[in-house]
Amino acid sequence: MALVAEHAALSDIGLQRSTNEDSFIDAPPLFAVADGMGGAQAGEVASRTAVEALSRALAGGRALPDAAQEANLQVFTLAERDPSRSGMGTTLTVLRLLEGNERAELAHVGDSRAYLLRDGGLEQLTADHSLVGEMMREGKLTADQAFSHPARSILSRALGTEPGVKIDRREIELRAGDVVLLCSDGLSSAVPDATIVKLLQGVSPREAARRLVREAKNRGGHDNITVIVLRFSEAGPSASGDEERTAALPAAAAGAADAADSATTAPLPPATAVGPAGQAAAPSGAEPAAVAGAAATPEATTSPQTAAAEAAAAETAAQPRRRLWLLVAALVVAALVAGFAVAVNVSYYVGVDGGYVSVFQGLPYGVGGLDLSRVYLRTQTQASAIAPEDQHLLTERAVTSKDEALRTIDALRTATPTPLPTASPSPTGRSSPGPSARGTP
Ligand code: MG
Repeated sequence: MALVAEHAALSDIGLQRSTNEDSFIDAPPLFAVADGMGGAQAGEVASRTAVEALSRALAGGRALPDAAQEANLQVFTLAERDPSRSGMGTTLTVLRLLEGNERAELAHVGDSRAYLLRDGGLEQLTADHSLVGEMMREGKLTADQAFSHPARSILSRALGTEPGVKIDRREIELRAGDVVLLCSDGLSSAVPDATIVKLLQGVSPREAARRLVREAKNRGGHDNITVIVLRFSEAGPSASGDEERTAALPAAAAGAADAADSATTAPLPPATAVGPAGQAAAPSGAEPAAVAGAAATPEATTSPQTAAAEAAAAETAAQPRRRLWLLVAALVVAALVAGFAVAVNVSYYVGVDGGYVSVFQGLPYGVGGLDLSRVYLRTQTQASAIAPEDQHLLTERAVTSKDEALRTIDALRTATPTPLPTASPSPTGRSSPGPSARGTP
């Protein structure tokens, strides 16, 4: 028997970020969350490019894994062409409903997550492609340690950083009563599973989405938070009153955020076009549907715009918005350079850059082709001038806090006649986006 899926999506900038780099699709039968990473506005571009490319490829009849590969290639190509976007990437977690909503296929890269809540038990359907996730699978970390690990945002696999990517794929059976949650790590790194279970139960998808976002913000809102909640039932949709849209509507479902709170999907309406937040995608021709993307705040978004004219106007209006976001992103980078960013992940180590004693931010190795660190501070002291007995401090690259790293180079000063300058971040060290540019706890 075909199931009815009620669904709602919500994306929130959180409390500590200046931009929302998450994008999403809430256009049955297609649902997806993408969490971008990269310097300046690149993360936002990466996640938006990925969901748009995915949506187009699926609309063109491609299989889901192929469509995800296509999304990968498009993000990668964009990054290759534009040095300012070099290294950008995104997570991508996709759920596509099949056959009367009784089954679904999933495609996944990165550390956004899909969960299934069934009979009160929460199962994570996706593996986290993160450093911490790998360490957990190897038995080096417990779930509790992973949850609060300072490097938990560092990805081991991402979409768009290489010309090809390994995509996890699986199918699941669905039953009446099931609840599926897709989310970015702004939720899953802030809210424990047990709390997620409580917040998902007994309410409509829309209310569940609101509760989840509120909880993540109550817990600091360090990152952008995107959630998509689907609830499956045999009967018609619950008469919760606030979810009125049905399958009769073309899937002009989502705008973004609160407006993306869309309702039921009877079996498989067509999908989908995707657009970024606040830039209502134009429903066009064979792609009647909607849309998603990140929004500044759920409250700030407007109703879905279905008229082509409105969409065109929105596109025009998007130009200054992009420039504004560029400015905001530049300010963010400047703030980081000045050392004022509170949301930056703080793993540091002492090493050598261009022959000079330096402090690096991040971790002293690469994973999956990603360089996990960048120069935070390059002193004017040549590494060769450091006393032999202290040389090991430059080569062992022990990961530590920023303060500890700075204390270490202070200690080096006593070992050499050349005084080190006072620590201040090096602007040049910021030019290449590091992995911590994405989700930092
Ligand atoms: Mg994130």
